[in-house]
Amino acid sequence: MPSAPAESGKVNGGNLSKAIQAVRGMNDVLPDQTPYWQQIEGAVRHILAAYGYSEIRMPVVERTELFARSIGEVTDIVEKEMYTFEDRNGDSLTLRPEGTAGCVRAGIENGLLYNQVQRLWYLGPMFRHERPQKGRYRQFHQIGAEVFGLEGPDVDAELILMTGRLWRQLGIADLVELQINSLGTAAARAVYRDRLVEYLKAHHAALDEDSRRRLETNPLRILDSKNPDMQPIIGRAPLLIDHLDPESRAHFDRLVAVLEAAGLRYTLNPRLVRGLDYYGRTVFEWVTDALGAQGTVCAGGRYDGLVEHLGGRATPAVGFAMGLERLVALMESTERARPADVAPHAYLALLGDSVQQDGLLLAERLRDRVPGLRLLTHCGGGGLKAQLKRADRSGASLALLLGGDEAARGEVGLKHLRANRDQESLGEDALCRRLAALVDGSAAGH
Ligand code: ATP
Ligand code: MG
Repeated sequence: MPSAPAESGKVNGGNLSKAIQAVRGMNDVLPDQTPYWQQIEGAVRHILAAYGYSEIRMPVVERTELFARSIGEVTDIVEKEMYTFEDRNGDSLTLRPEGTAGCVRAGIENGLLYNQVQRLWYLGPMFRHERPQKGRYRQFHQIGAEVFGLEGPDVDAELILMTGRLWRQLGIADLVELQINSLGTAAARAVYRDRLVEYLKAHHAALDEDSRRRLETNPLRILDSKNPDMQPIIGRAPLLIDHLDPESRAHFDRLVAVLEAAGLRYTLNPRLVRGLDYYGRTVFEWVTDALGAQGTVCAGGRYDGLVEHLGGRATPAVGFAMGLERLVALMESTERARPADVAPHAYLALLGDSVQQDGLLLAERLRDRVPGLRLLTHCGGGGLKAQLKRADRSGASLALLLGGDEAARGEVGLKHLRANRDQESLGEDALCRRLAALVDGSAAGH
């Protein structure tokens, strides 16, 4: 029903109050978009269950030091993107910018990791104070998966194959490309780091300000620079993949062998270093060129040192996180990924005051008897024409008509909204059979 004229201003003492807006970079997901989200979440639940993963739910807020210690002090996230605030009792807390740190914290704290294999996944909002733009928000959502207690590379391969299955299921497999690399062990990275610093110092004049700073603190991160001016220097830098320790090399070769045997195409990107400190050996990203600059939809890798670093016993681990906003955008870009229809199957029009109560009870019985039926009951009265207009707008394929005459005969009128067919009149049993066939048909269509 149309709402009363806006009177909200009067509530505040007669002034027209200005509507309050959402925080910049934090978006509502509106009803026309939620089918995409549900499609992704449904497929993920299904596929992760098929690989034996269990869901874990962590708090959105953690102690600031958890992120500083795990992600690394000299990273974009910790240096400038965290939503950090002081609790009323003076503790420094942070809205989580990613899920791995909290997942490891929860695993250690609850004794899930020691001497066990765990395959875990989570879904939820993450917060980073970045410059909002298409594909980059301040509240965004990730689905993450983390495996603890397995050294790989078998499980690294399984994890990547699982994400490949998800893209196929969602209809976006032809829009994404897998890039992989190995970061080796910490010792191998230390040797490489010296070589890299030597090279970069020889080109000091051409480095941008960020990179000069990183030269002292975190030179590998320079390879991750998005600055176009930096690309020629980065392009000629020595490659970490050429400095791998023998075990990491063998680990990587075995991973690649599985991917090839499975027919999963990949690109070796020797400059893929990931923006977080905790990675070693396997790293990978699924990237797309269908979304402009924000092209990474899923990213992950191995982080064998993190559990111990956060106070647990040494535990190998590997995981990934995917950004839901970017996945939704990718799905919207292709007809093939259109979500299943969620329009009602039928719209029940109620004609006259005398059938209002009967109509509601009829609708209850139909939902009892026809599993999966999506039935919208007209509420709020009005004439036949207005109600049929609503029925049409709802997207339903059938309008059910209940007036005083039909009620007296124990029948319901049935009008086909999407087909040129005569109106019918059916008893309740026949109506249920007809609706069941409609539900089956629409389920089979997807
Ligand atoms: P980018 O290089 O795009 O900043 P990142 O390396 O910071 O990504 P991760 O921390 O690896 O991203 O997060 C995994 C995924 O989460 C990304 O691949 C992306 O899909 C998504 N993501 C990260 N930051 C944002 C953001 N601010 N808004 C929307 N999605 C994001
Ligand atoms: Mg980032």
